Amino acid sequence: MTPPAQLSLLAAWIFLWLLQRNTGLKCVCPLCDGDVCETPADGACWNSVMLIDGREKTARSCLSPLEMKGQVFCHSSPSVSLRECCFSDFCNNQTLHLQPERPLGDPDRSNRLQLPLVIAVPSCLLCVALVLGGVFLVQSQRCLYFGAQKHDPEEALDDHMLMSADKCLKDLIYDMSTSGSGSGLPLLVQRTIARTIVLQESIGKGRFGEVWRGKWRGEDVAVKIFSSRDERSWFREAEIYQTIMLRHDNILGFIAADNKDNGSWTQLWLVSEYHEHGSLFDYLNRYTVSVESMMLLALSIASGLAHLHMEIIGTQGKPAIAHRDLKSKNVLVKKNGAAVIADLGLAVKHDSSSNSIDIPSNHRVGTKRYMAPEVLDETINANNFESFKRADIYSLGLVFWEVARRCSDRGLQEDFQLPYYDLVPSDPSIEDMKKVVCEQKLRPNIPNQWQCCEALRVAGKLMRECWYANPAARLTALRVKKTLSQLSSIRDVKD
Ligand code: ADP
Ligand code: MG
Repeated sequence: MTPPAQLSLLAAWIFLWLLQRNTGLKCVCPLCDGDVCETPADGACWNSVMLIDGREKTARSCLSPLEMKGQVFCHSSPSVSLRECCFSDFCNNQTLHLQPERPLGDPDRSNRLQLPLVIAVPSCLLCVALVLGGVFLVQSQRCLYFGAQKHDPEEALDDHMLMSADKCLKDLIYDMSTSGSGSGLPLLVQRTIARTIVLQESIGKGRFGEVWRGKWRGEDVAVKIFSSRDERSWFREAEIYQTIMLRHDNILGFIAADNKDNGSWTQLWLVSEYHEHGSLFDYLNRYTVSVESMMLLALSIASGLAHLHMEIIGTQGKPAIAHRDLKSKNVLVKKNGAAVIADLGLAVKHDSSSNSIDIPSNHRVGTKRYMAPEVLDETINANNFESFKRADIYSLGLVFWEVARRCSDRGLQEDFQLPYYDLVPSDPSIEDMKKVVCEQKLRPNIPNQWQCCEALRVAGKLMRECWYANPAARLTALRVKKTLSQLSSIRDVKD
């Protein structure tokens, strides 16, 4: 072939390749309808083999450009997983193996080995199964009753160790907080977990997601399912939960995010720790609380919020985050009576080096009933990150009021009510709220009876200092946390 002919052939090939990149690819996908999937433009075909429970598990599917950004999909970790992304139709049509195939030995020798093998292999398998069964039993008991075994932070982590059969959720979460990036499990591990969850029952519905209880390796998990329409909210919430160093006892423990294409639509999952008491709203509707429980709830919510608001400087630091939708339905109650802050779908992060705020790309604003006066009348200074934190503190004051009303000290308790229940209709408009909160400057009632005991007196004072009309006058989350922990320790000493 002449050089000009070679050149034009090359150009045509490049043109065809580019055309294909812009129109998406067809890839092998054993879990899809007709065993074929189609990527969006600029996607890739994905081929992977991973060692799970000592066995090679292969996966082949389509990758969206978004998934390709997640570093895990197209990168391998030696001897544990092999992942390839390729860019032509059906280029993932081959079965990958982790170890190179072993050269065949001489036939005589293999014959000689056959008889002992027939006996040895099943007995070994039986032993391994027994040992694994034992380990699994011990492990699940240990996870349930004694907490997670500590993983040596010096030890390198890989996907294989993360997914080994004896790992329970606490171990996985502990591993990921002490090693790795400090921001969450590798994406492929997240996907593997999500795809082995069995959904059990629907437990809640919020603005975007329907929340389910699911089982993973016998443990309960919560799965928030978004429709593909709400992809941006799903992505945003997953992104916030994976903020470096966000993990905290009083912030909902994130486990995994996964987007699963079932052929006709995409299901978007957020997997988190499951809390059987459900939301603080449900809990307070059901139960009254003792002074101790009230203190524990209030202190844990304040601690979660203080951690969210705090900027930690350094390479493993964390940006300051404001929640923007704090309310009793977005707080969950743990088995031990402490609370965790959940639903971070509306949160904003502060980049202190550029003093910028990464406003999320969805249009959600907070819940009208809990909106601070400056949010209601739109006088909030959105260029100053402190403003968002101060608006959270206002909502925190309202949540404290909901808890304190249910405190059953000396027969005081009242029925559960939402803040402003007596002043606005059940689904108040911005105008309804503005009239009460900004114009009439009303706040929830703090009854005189709360003067009777120290905890309720302090709680009442804290609320007032959280819901001042002037945002700059409000307490910080750290101040609230310190006041409450001092009060708890004084009570402990007195007891
Ligand atoms: P949305 O963004 O749609 O408001 P949320 O994350 O607030 O969704 O969850 C909605 C409801 O589902 C909560 O109010 C709570 O009742 C329930 N829920 C959410 N996550 C959990 C969980 N991890 N454990 C138990 N219940 C949960
Ligand atoms: Mg919610």
